[in-house]
Amino acid sequence: MILVGLTGGIASGKTTVARLLKQRGATIIDADRIGHEVMAPGGPAYDQVVGRFGNEILAPDGTVDRQKLGAIVFSDPSALSDHVAITHPHIVKEIFTRIDAERSRDGLVVVDAALLVEGLASDRGKSMGLDALVVVSADVEEQIKRMIDHRDLQEDAARSRISSQAAPEKKLAAADYVIDNRGSLEDLERSVETLWQDLMNRHESQTR
Ligand code: ATP
Repeated sequence: MILVGLTGGIASGKTTVARLLKQRGATIIDADRIGHEVMAPGGPAYDQVVGRFGNEILAPDGTVDRQKLGAIVFSDPSALSDHVAITHPHIVKEIFTRIDAERSRDGLVVVDAALLVEGLASDRGKSMGLDALVVVSADVEEQIKRMIDHRDLQEDAARSRISSQAAPEKKLAAADYVIDNRGSLEDLERSVETLWQDLMNRHESQTR
């Protein structure tokens, strides 16, 4: 197994890169999706999240309304850090479980996690044993435009989400590979193909 971390700012293009890697045969562990699962009713973080943020974050069916929760945590740093403190241990645990399940298999496993640099690049990131960290880099104004166009956010909400994350320089400094996503989707696909070839070569030389 080659274990690759994939990170980058909000709306930088991580999910698109993950999709392109999946098309080429990679297994994707999606931290965002795991984040939804741990907060789902019956999930390990549900009671604590509702306990901290109250019933007003719930949809009528009892699920967490992520728009409502997002509006709270991205406008209040202490709410965000509480949310991270509640959910991250569960997310990390599940990521580790899924990595362990893949360990004996041959192939590329990608952990797609926006918070990989902030949260996991610390001790846990090291113990995760990443073979490589890929950072997707985009222009901030372009990220904001993509959030407004595709995520249905107002501009000020988009800006506060960007500023709640680690500075891009920190992510870039930790990167083994930087995917520049300031161009078109076709440009992105070409960059991912180059990345894939490189990772495959690496994999071959490791298993040789
Ligand atoms: P999030 O942090 O919100 O999960 P993300 O980093 O995973 O976002 P994507 O979902 O891959 O980002 O991309 C955000 C949106 O921008 C998507 O709708 C995607 O199709 C679009 N997008 C990504 N890259 C490009 C590009 N190079 N040109 C045009 N649109 C793009």
